[in-house]
Amino acid sequence: MDRYLVKPGKKIKLDEWDPNDKSLFDLEKDEAEDALIKLNNKLEKLQEMLYIEQKHSLLIILQGMDTSGKDGVIRHVFDGVNPQGVRVASFKVPTAEELAHDYLWRIHKQTPRKGEIVIFNRSQYEDVLVVRVHSLVPEDVWKKRYEQINAFEKTLAESGTTILKFYLHIDKDEQKDRLQARLDEPDKNWKFNPGDLEERKLWPEYQKAYEDVLSKTSTEAAPWYVIPANRKWYRNLLIGEILVETLKNLDMQLPEIDFNPKEIVIE
Ligand code: ADP
Repeated sequence: MDRYLVKPGKKIKLDEWDPNDKSLFDLEKDEAEDALIKLNNKLEKLQEMLYIEQKHSLLIILQGMDTSGKDGVIRHVFDGVNPQGVRVASFKVPTAEELAHDYLWRIHKQTPRKGEIVIFNRSQYEDVLVVRVHSLVPEDVWKKRYEQINAFEKTLAESGTTILKFYLHIDKDEQKDRLQARLDEPDKNWKFNPGDLEERKLWPEYQKAYEDVLSKTSTEAAPWYVIPANRKWYRNLLIGEILVETLKNLDMQLPEIDFNPKEIVIE
């Protein structure tokens, strides 16, 4: 899975990353569905251990262009996981109160407590993506944010939070097909937002902004993965595998007990 990891300090060009890649799993669609169910079960057990142990927390950051599948990942990869142990935080256009604070204020409030998994649907990275592309703050303000974000994430990591960041990589043709499907299929019409077409015109500006994010903010403490996301099944399996591997590596243990259960008699 390391082939999808952005090595810290490496300069990323997104057109060198294939959004159709499926080189890790050579599967048919139904085989992929079975494999995902197995991963869901593993994730469920690992999440339970995380909760029981109350030692670590897991923060998952999802970013990607419109229609890249952030909602789909949340729905499919976490299917079956106990909702008490997982929370989703979505970051929209900041409210007046949020804008009256520093940009990390609303983010920090949503980070996971010990034993918890939190998924960020969009994140602090919007403050160097949409904010940059639309010049919502001056350049000398957003330029400082890469280092600020790295320092913030390092602080979280050193306090026991494991951080995984996924960039869902689709290409412009795939986005066209997905937007068109939202027009063609009545049960998807509600997902269509005419504003997405304006954002689509800024595709090259967003890709450049993402390249800078990936190049400047993939760190030991909080690595980025570029997830080939044109194929939904591959995207889901790959993220599921990375989560399972990461949680396994935490080497979680059931707590020690100070009694012998065999000696206890319940009257
Ligand atoms: P989503 O597309 O995530 O399903 P919305 O359609 O409500 O949900 O989009 C949320 C919008 O909020 C996006 O256009 C995103 O760029 C914007 N947004 C998020 N964070 C910020 C921010 N810090 N500054 C400006 N806009 C932001």
